[in-house]
Amino acid sequence: MRIFVNLMFIMLFATVIACTGKTTQAPGTAASGSAQSGKVKLYSATTKGYIMSDKVVKSPGEWRTLLTPEQYHVSREQGTEQAFTGDTWNNHEVGIYQCVCCGNDLYRSEHKYESGTGWPSFWQPIAPENITTRADNSLFSRRTEVLCSRCDAHLGHVFDDGPKPTGLRYCMNSAAMKFVKTP
Ligand SMILES: [Zn+2]
Repeated sequence: MRIFVNLMFIMLFATVIACTGKTTQAPGTAASGSAQSGKVKLYSATTKGYIMSDKVVKSPGEWRTLLTPEQYHVSREQGTEQAFTGDTWNNHEVGIYQCVCCGNDLYRSEHKYESGTGWPSFWQPIAPENITTRADNSLFSRRTEVLCSRCDAHLGHVFDDGPKPTGLRYCMNSAAMKFVKTP
């Protein structure tokens, strides 16, 4: 009898541990499921239309293996490359600028212009859906951060001192993008 009671106690204890383990794990899974993963509607330059794409979610360790230290710092740690040092601030070739992390199409060369800042600058994205903006109040200033809609990479900031017709200046980091020439 005594052994049976002990056994019951152990089983009860094990159940409590199992349940507690589940409850601590569940919110984390749910949070990442609702906030980061899921589908997103994006414009695709390849198909010349909208597609439904999976969000790209990776751990910092996974991103580090895929990106150079500079690409990682800019896109995953909200870094800013030094002006006039990136690959594409002075690029005049015809093509598409994609997210360096996930390949999402971001900008067209025809919307690029000479801002004189030393960072690749555009007056509009390839499609409004492909980028996301949010308030950035760091560095004692109010700016609007621009992120990739597919993987939440930090791309740069958007300002309202751009040229016509939008009056916007999407000030990007070369390190957050890769340029693909189009014929
Ligand atoms: Zn991306």
